[in-house]
Amino acid sequence: MRVAVVSLEVYPFAKVGGLADVVGALPKALKRHGVEPIVIMPFHKIVQENARKANVEIKKVVDKVFLPKLKTNEAVSIYKGNLPNSDVPVYFIGNDKYFSAEMVYGGVDEAEQSIFFSNAVFETLKTLDIQVDVLHANDWQTGLVPVYLKTVYRYEPFFERTAMVYSIHNLGYQGIFDKRYLDFAKLGEWLYSMQYLEFYGNLNFMKGGIVFSDAINTVSPTYAKEIQTEEYGNKLDGVLVSKADVLFGILNGIDYSEYDPSKDPRISHHYSAEDYSNKWKVKEDLQKELGLEVIPDKPIFALISRLVDQKGLDILSEIIDYMLLYDVQFVLLGTGDPKYEKRFKGIASEYPGNTSINITFDVDLAQRIYAGSDFFLMPSLYEPCGLGQMYSMRYGTIPVVRYTGGLADTVKEYDPATGEGNGFGFKEYSSGELLKAIMRALFYYRKKEAHERLIKNAMSTDVSWDKSAIEYIKFYKKSLEIAKGRF
Ligand code: ADP
Repeated sequence: MRVAVVSLEVYPFAKVGGLADVVGALPKALKRHGVEPIVIMPFHKIVQENARKANVEIKKVVDKVFLPKLKTNEAVSIYKGNLPNSDVPVYFIGNDKYFSAEMVYGGVDEAEQSIFFSNAVFETLKTLDIQVDVLHANDWQTGLVPVYLKTVYRYEPFFERTAMVYSIHNLGYQGIFDKRYLDFAKLGEWLYSMQYLEFYGNLNFMKGGIVFSDAINTVSPTYAKEIQTEEYGNKLDGVLVSKADVLFGILNGIDYSEYDPSKDPRISHHYSAEDYSNKWKVKEDLQKELGLEVIPDKPIFALISRLVDQKGLDILSEIIDYMLLYDVQFVLLGTGDPKYEKRFKGIASEYPGNTSINITFDVDLAQRIYAGSDFFLMPSLYEPCGLGQMYSMRYGTIPVVRYTGGLADTVKEYDPATGEGNGFGFKEYSSGELLKAIMRALFYYRKKEAHERLIKNAMSTDVSWDKSAIEYIKFYKKSLEIAKGRF
């Protein structure tokens, strides 16, 4: 089975959030299970440097491809590389106008960028003569891929037998734009109707992705149910309910070869679930590096996150002072909303020696924090899957989470009676409930046997991609069955 996974971000070439991690890892796992995947992404300005760091060579394979189905004279060039340490091909679509911003997003008209890329995927596949069984688009940025497949390219024999799947990684970002973009996209006016792309007087690219795909998934079983409710549906719950029979939830995994505490070059000492005594050395190094008091049995609570409302930072802000009264340390790594940056920076000056507030984006430091901390906070308002809790568990750092979306599917409350469970959590979204969960975490931290059990349980929780890849293969097969009616 040939599958083309298309995304605007792919780790390590261009990463903004969890989406990049998923698209960087899933194809490798698919390949191990007999699928023939390719990845298609833009040749962003930052790709070349990140490829060099990852020892990936990128070559130009086609110089100029025009996009006759768009209202533009801009052409694209096609480049080729591989996902690191694999033979999964990555095709990069280059264009100076749309993919030369410093970062992945920003600095360009995002609607045009998304339309341009989504359309270029088709012309790229045709030019390279790569016919795929399944096209797999991700999030609003590639929401128009399904729309193009089922309208403009519908009668082209080259795509006749291609099934379309669409993954929702975060329903909070839908790509809502003015109707005038239909003109640039050369998509018919008829699509501007409630059944298709129209959404409260605008176009909604994610809605297009949902409506025109053969099968849809989101990144955890719980989130798949949640998004069909008004509370979590971001006004698309009605559309999602209407697609309920083809809507699935598949948990993400993490790349076990890249994130392995027994050999991760980013951490100072190595350890495993069988012998994690070196974790305390990593903790000590982290305390030194971040200017914290070096006290081995002072628990470190960490948070690595985009600083946005979704991540539960309002309830954490309310109780952070209480938490710090309990003789703990707090490490934050994140960027985002200035109101949270300010709030947490304020904490740093109040509790010097016990807090380290890092308002920056640094994937290597993130790794040292995942490994060197005792607890990882994720009190999210909603969380489609969440990767932070998985990285932290893999490195023996106990998650304290709100039981929502993928957090509810991966973190199980510690039960002292059975010794089962890998973390702590709460259901009702309130600062009081969060504080109680933190107190439970602290209580068991002081009980050596329970804490050791928790570390072992967390480290042996299976969050590998292999498990998820098998689910994705079933999902692709299902989409082919559904699409057959059309073939
Ligand atoms: P989301 O995709 O909603 O941002 P996830 O938990 O799915 O949340 O993924 C976030 C990813 O981004 C994780 O790999 C996390 O480690 C990483 N990350 C977030 N903020 C930073 C930061 N400031 N520095 C380094 N990595 C970060």
